[in-house]
Amino acid sequence: RRIITTDMMEEDIRIEGSLRPQCLDDYIGQEKAKKNLKIYIEAAKQRNDALDHVLFYGPPGLGKTTLAGIIANEMGVHMKVTSGPAIEKPGEMAAILNNLQEGDVLFVDEIHRLNRQVEEVLYPAMEDYAIDIMIGKGATARSIRLDLPHFTLVGATTRAGLLTAPLRDRFGVIHHLEFYTEEELQTIIQHSAKVLGVEIDADGAREMAKRSRGTPRLANRLLKRVRDFAQVKYDGKITKEVADFALELLEVDRYGLDQTDRKILEMIIQKFNGGPVGLDTLAAAIGEDAGTIEDVYEPYLIQYGFLNRTPRGRVATELAYHHLGI
Ligand code: ADP
Repeated sequence: RRIITTDMMEEDIRIEGSLRPQCLDDYIGQEKAKKNLKIYIEAAKQRNDALDHVLFYGPPGLGKTTLAGIIANEMGVHMKVTSGPAIEKPGEMAAILNNLQEGDVLFVDEIHRLNRQVEEVLYPAMEDYAIDIMIGKGATARSIRLDLPHFTLVGATTRAGLLTAPLRDRFGVIHHLEFYTEEELQTIIQHSAKVLGVEIDADGAREMAKRSRGTPRLANRLLKRVRDFAQVKYDGKITKEVADFALELLEVDRYGLDQTDRKILEMIIQKFNGGPVGLDTLAAAIGEDAGTIEDVYEPYLIQYGFLNRTPRGRVATELAYHHLGI
């Protein structure tokens, strides 16, 4: 599999546990979200009540799950983890809610993928800490209300716009997670290197930070790969030279773009005269899923000026021509 994918890989699951920061002070970057959360957490603790429901949105690998865990930690409560596609029936959601303890965090990843009936269980749960259960059938059917403990729903999604309005409106706190700066990623890489017992110098960490697409998950993944090269081809220490050598072989270029990024840009430039080209047409041309292009690839390409989104479609920028040498 390709290294740049921001989906979880098996090895991520193994290593992320140890690399995940446990408290707000150890969480690098996202200053605005951190500052606000600190206040909300403090206030909720003073009131001795659950924190208001929180929605995080942004591309994968930016730290949404990590933040949910930190919230639970800082509040001193348990976290239950589930995801939109994992819950198929309203009864399953009701059971999960019913098993929560006072103050608990329920983390729902890919919350935009909950089906409508399951989502409707969440409305009274979020608003009134209650669920409505139907008992009986036909003419004798009636609904009874079951009280729930006060809990905090933390939802994660790639785009806030994917949520239905009634669900979105029930979150008291909504934060967009941003791509990380080079400095922040360098700090994360150096910290991860320490945890993994890898020697790395500042220039090496900086070079890797530049090529991590603004994403901590990728930074950690690249670190593990580059470590292998450092071990086998060099004396084990990651320097700029080692990082350059390894990332070249991994086909991650100096902006952190990988084959698919470059394919997207090349396709727009060469097959569609630089655009505009519609998302679906583009997706079909390169054989990728349109949603994946929109949620995973585009945000970075747009933010760093390789691509523009216009009403008539996607357009390659001058920087894209320049970068690809066309
Ligand atoms: P998401 O839920 O947005 O896909 P995760 O929370 O799973 O992303 O983050 C992926 C990995 O990146 C985490 O395991 C953690 O090691 C690292 N990470 C994310 N955000 C930070 C951060 N702010 N500081 C340090 N490491 C981070």
